[in-house]
Amino acid sequence: MSDPLWVVPGERTFPRLQGQTEADVAVVGGGFSGLGAAWAAMQSGASVVVLEARTIAAGASGRNAGFILSGPAMGFGASVAAIGLEETLEIWRLTEENHSLLLSLLEELSTDCGYLRRGSLSLAASDTEWDVMQEECGRMLNAGLNVCLMPSSSLPRPFDSLYQGGVYHPGNAELDPGAFLRGMARHLATRVTIFEESPVEVIENGEQLLLLSLEGTVTARRVVVATNAYTDTLLRAVPIAPTRGQVASTRPLSRVIAPFPMYADRGFQYWRQTADGRLVVGGWRNLDLEAEVGRDELLHERIQAALRHFVEQVAPGAGIERRWAGIMGFTPDHYPLVGPVPGHAGIFMAAGYSGHGVAMAFICGARAARESLGEGAIIPGAFRPERLIPV
Ligand SMILES: Cc1cc2nc3c(=O)[nH]c(=O)nc-3n(C[C@H](O)[C@H](O)[C@H](O)COP(=O)(O)OP(=O)(O)OC[C@H]3O[C@@H](n4cnc5c(N)ncnc54)[C@H](O)[C@@H]3O)c2cc1C
Repeated sequence: MSDPLWVVPGERTFPRLQGQTEADVAVVGGGFSGLGAAWAAMQSGASVVVLEARTIAAGASGRNAGFILSGPAMGFGASVAAIGLEETLEIWRLTEENHSLLLSLLEELSTDCGYLRRGSLSLAASDTEWDVMQEECGRMLNAGLNVCLMPSSSLPRPFDSLYQGGVYHPGNAELDPGAFLRGMARHLATRVTIFEESPVEVIENGEQLLLLSLEGTVTARRVVVATNAYTDTLLRAVPIAPTRGQVASTRPLSRVIAPFPMYADRGFQYWRQTADGRLVVGGWRNLDLEAEVGRDELLHERIQAALRHFVEQVAPGAGIERRWAGIMGFTPDHYPLVGPVPGHAGIFMAAGYSGHGVAMAFICGARAARESLGEGAIIPGAFRPERLIPV
């Protein structure tokens, strides 16, 4: 089956936009960023409309692996090298706040979102990666981060014979992203107007902002564009490269294979076991980086074969039940773009998480919305759109 485990694409809950409507804030996109923006704007007392081209969480938000990890997409060491320790720690804190926010909301939603907080393990797939990891772990400990080095002898089987060692992050967690966002959309819908199958084709600047969709329009004071890998179809100068990822999952397994989410080979390989026992395996994009681009959610057979092979290695006989692909949005420096869009008065954005949006997209959407309402939201300098978007 090639539908993701977390959502049924095309299963619509909310109406299509027809006719004219207006709102203080119009949010374009119904994933983590868009629903985060809608939630924050609603909390601020604004009237809010969400326009989603397909259905809630049909994009990357319903097709990911569900890892909630702290820190920036490129990891601690690479981020410190790029922007320094203080700014890296600021991003670290932002992801921790995102995690706390998701946790408090999923408790409020009281729906089962498959949330588990068991930590996560980053594994070294080569001696070189292990050397780097040990050094980086020391630097993370010095910076006060809660991590723990695990040599191969203390790794769970069968990973002890496949990887050189790892770094355990006790605070990390996992969830079913589709269940969370469906629950969130239902919760928002009491005060927010949500439209599905309502793509925004153009945003026109005038006294107000006018969003044109297939069968209707929305007039808004502020717009938050939360379209991640699809952003350049609306805002042409935004450098977010659509990048494909492959995922596969098994049926529920009766034994524990992965006691916590794991990732290896600099994040190119990742897997976890859901609350109901399914092994979810994704990545191996580096087998064909050139082909894994664009916005088509196509299966890549050679990469899917690598996922199947891995499952056979760690859970012999488990077999694959579902396979799917999803589209991530990569920026040139792998930090997202959050805040006002240069040259577009009244338009704000939250996008470009470079494969790390479960970790931060909801809060980034929320902060973009707060900033759009003049509430002075704190957004890390490394996320400011003006660094990559010419006015
Ligand atoms: C295979 C895979 C595995 C991943 N694993 C993880 C992980 O384990 N942990 C992690 O932190 N991150 C992970 N990610 C990344 C994470 O899923 C994304 O960063 C995050 O979901 C981005 O959320 P978003 O709301 O910004 O974008 P999306 O979820 O892509 O939402 C954008 C929405 O905008 C809609 N849209 C686009 N154009 C328009 C338009 N013109 N009008 C109206 N609507 C429009 C789309 O239909 C879409 O629903 C993974 C991603 C993939 C693909």
